[in-house]
Amino acid sequence: MTDRYQTFTRTPLGKTLVKNLGLPDPLPLPRWIEGSPVIDGPVVFGAIGETDAGKAIQALLRDIGAAFSTANEGVASSEIRPKALVFDATGATSTADLSSLQRFFSPVVRQLAPAGRVVVIGRTPELSSSPEQQIAQRALEGFTRSLGKEVKRGATVNLVYVAPDAHEQLDSTLRFFLSPKSAYVDGQVAKIGIGPLVSNDPNRPLAGRTALVTGAARGIGAAIANTLARDGATVIGVDVPQNADPLRKVISRIGGTELLLDVTSVDAAQRIAAHAQEQHGGLDIVVHNAGITRDRRLVNMRTDVWDAVLDVNLRAPERITKHLVETGTLRDGGSIVGVSSMAGIAGNNGQTNYATSKAGVIGLVQALAPKLAERQIRINAVAPGFIETEMTAKIPFTIREVGRRLNSLQQGGLPIDVAETIAWFADPASAGVTGNVVRVCGQSLLGA
Ligand code: NAD
Repeated sequence: MTDRYQTFTRTPLGKTLVKNLGLPDPLPLPRWIEGSPVIDGPVVFGAIGETDAGKAIQALLRDIGAAFSTANEGVASSEIRPKALVFDATGATSTADLSSLQRFFSPVVRQLAPAGRVVVIGRTPELSSSPEQQIAQRALEGFTRSLGKEVKRGATVNLVYVAPDAHEQLDSTLRFFLSPKSAYVDGQVAKIGIGPLVSNDPNRPLAGRTALVTGAARGIGAAIANTLARDGATVIGVDVPQNADPLRKVISRIGGTELLLDVTSVDAAQRIAAHAQEQHGGLDIVVHNAGITRDRRLVNMRTDVWDAVLDVNLRAPERITKHLVETGTLRDGGSIVGVSSMAGIAGNNGQTNYATSKAGVIGLVQALAPKLAERQIRINAVAPGFIETEMTAKIPFTIREVGRRLNSLQQGGLPIDVAETIAWFADPASAGVTGNVVRVCGQSLLGA
């Protein structure tokens, strides 16, 4: 689906109208291209004191070859146009330290390059060592979410909370938030805990791993299959028998295997486990992407319509996860990713069934993350906002236009944006990332 309005705003007439009438001006967002650097411009780094996290961040910036300068007081009239501003706030121990945010960002934020990145790193508030520290750390959320709404021209602002002694786990998450892979992830908070230190090739982080992707024939699922394969995984693509042809096309391009089944069928979990064991010796990554909408207001909701949505979107992921974990088909150290939705967070008119199912996916993550940690299996979810797919193409024009524009980036996301977020979750180097729900919504203005 093309965004015709966005295309129009790039024409001379469009540019004039946007400027004179103050219309939305959605900058086309660059996406990551294989072989390109994590970040293609200078980085300005600031911090509250010297911390272990700060050292780890600077080591990473050197590792990815970023030209970076440090400026605790910002760079007021510098000629550089930073591509990213990275601020280590883990050293904030009381609210007095919050002044550093204004001192660092205020002079430099205007200089941020188009599609720039702002990443603030904090200490997980609940794991603070004093109430004063917890208050200051929690305050970072308000700062980042507001700055996300202020920065323009495709820039994003995100907050990463890191647990004490988990600073060595920062790499995969910072790579994601600094690069164009996170183009449509804005105003989000990610949490990193302690996990085993995994060092892998960041260009092929999933080499040697097997990933199951449900609903892989088209849309977001096809993008997930392609992206996980790009990162080195062997992909098992699942979809309904009616979609055999498109599924075959996706899988033949990436060299995985296909499995035609309805995820709601009684033996779906058993068939998936048998296929994974026989063809691949087990599984490392499971992505529950298959999903449907059957929108009706509750007064008109038939039982079969309600059940169909709950069955595909929630009960199937729950049942399949249980079986794959209990049978050991999903190996220790594996990663499960659920696909929730903004509707599951904010609710939506006509979507009581869908929103129930998608909020349930968040429940699945929260319920299982602590239990699965015993086997070092991680579970996270993405919550897409408006993504350009066949599903959203069916939405009536005016509602579709509103959905597209009502976010900080003033445009819909692409399936690749959801896929890149899932690839970050699936990366074994994200060993400390579990129990997270990250919205891929361009910082949608719709909230809970
Ligand atoms: P889509 O309709 O384009 O693709 C969904 C795929 O899942 C299809 O190939 C379909 O055949 C498959 N599928 C459906 N039911 C199945 C079943 N019972 N068994 C096996 N496969 C089945 O949808 P999409 O837009 O790519 O959405 C993918 C996921 O993202 C869904 O879970 C959806 O709820 C979620 N999501 C999408 C958006 C969006 O804006 N497109 C927003 C939020 C969440």
